[in-house]
Amino acid sequence: MAENYDCIIVGGGPAGLGAALYASRDRFKTLVLEKFYPGGQINNTDRIENYPGIEQVDGPGLIEKMQKQALNFGTEIKNGSEVTNLKKLENGNIKVSCDKTEYITRAVILAPGSSYRKLGVPGEEEFRLAGAGVSYCGTCDAPFFKGKQVVAIGGGNTAIEETLHLVKFADKVTLIHRRNEFRATKVLSEELLAKTNGPDSNLIIKYNTVATAIEGKGKVQSIMLKNVKTGGEESYPCDGVFIFVGTVPNTAFLKGFVDLTESGFIKCDCAYMRTRVPGVFVAGDCRVGAAMQLVTAVADGVVAAMMLKQYFRDKNWWNEGVSDTLQPGGW
Ligand code: NAP
Repeated sequence: MAENYDCIIVGGGPAGLGAALYASRDRFKTLVLEKFYPGGQINNTDRIENYPGIEQVDGPGLIEKMQKQALNFGTEIKNGSEVTNLKKLENGNIKVSCDKTEYITRAVILAPGSSYRKLGVPGEEEFRLAGAGVSYCGTCDAPFFKGKQVVAIGGGNTAIEETLHLVKFADKVTLIHRRNEFRATKVLSEELLAKTNGPDSNLIIKYNTVATAIEGKGKVQSIMLKNVKTGGEESYPCDGVFIFVGTVPNTAFLKGFVDLTESGFIKCDCAYMRTRVPGVFVAGDCRVGAAMQLVTAVADGVVAAMMLKQYFRDKNWWNEGVSDTLQPGGW
């Protein structure tokens, strides 16, 4: 027989664990179903400096604390549990199916996060699968490139942070970006630009440049670069290619259950985190309009867990519009 819960949270990243803490502190029987192990993308970050109140922490360290805190209040976490299907039942409950197990819950918070976006150039998949020089995680793989030459790709916060990590290991790091201006925050961009100065600098930045192919025999040996302004191409020698070109939401399994945008983000009202399906909330990077920050992912989870109470109190609330004056509530 399927086990019953008040709240099932799909995904054990910051959004899911934030939701779990609040739901279990409200004494709701709460289960987190995590595909791999808690943390998600934040596990790849070795330096977080923008979580208010904590000057600096590493991703796995913060997640360990979040997990412990949720467990202390009664949350159950099942790792290695990939949710494959969700179904709204006639009695209003929701059936959540994993590979071999089914659960019944009064409400769901979807927090499946996002995955690395692929570049889609020849060589990328081949060398990634072989572990032969293509990586999406500098924090994880930089030590393998000690004394070597690497190319990093991207202009967002991740690309800058990861490049700052790579320069500590590789002999030479070349960061290429398709435009002439970074998307990353100014503080990070300035820190990176400062690293290009000085006789000992091992960092080169190439703007207006894209990669068209990753090449080599058995392992990465070079990357084809193209200047988008001049059209000029060059084969650029390197031992590794680190790709940091953003993320895509992990929502394929939700197609047909909730409404998704063309890019796969879960549609919601963004104020109360309600999806189209009564009793199904969303939190974190997988939703439309997300700020894609650790802090906002946690905050989404908290909002969803608070709104859970309103849904349990009054099921009809689901169909009410977002009020600009009245908060649902009583907390
Ligand atoms: P992002 O902000 O979406 O940046 C992706 C970068 O890759 C952009 O510079 C983009 O170029 C480039 N790009 C995208 N597709 C490309 C392609 N096909 N070829 C070449 N370049 C391509 O992604 P992110 O850096 O992974 O960050 C994701 C979110 O997490 C962001 O909201 C970010 O602020 C947040 N984040 C925050 C922190 C922090 O606060 N410490 C750390 C990491 C991430 P264009 O700029 O030209 O579009």
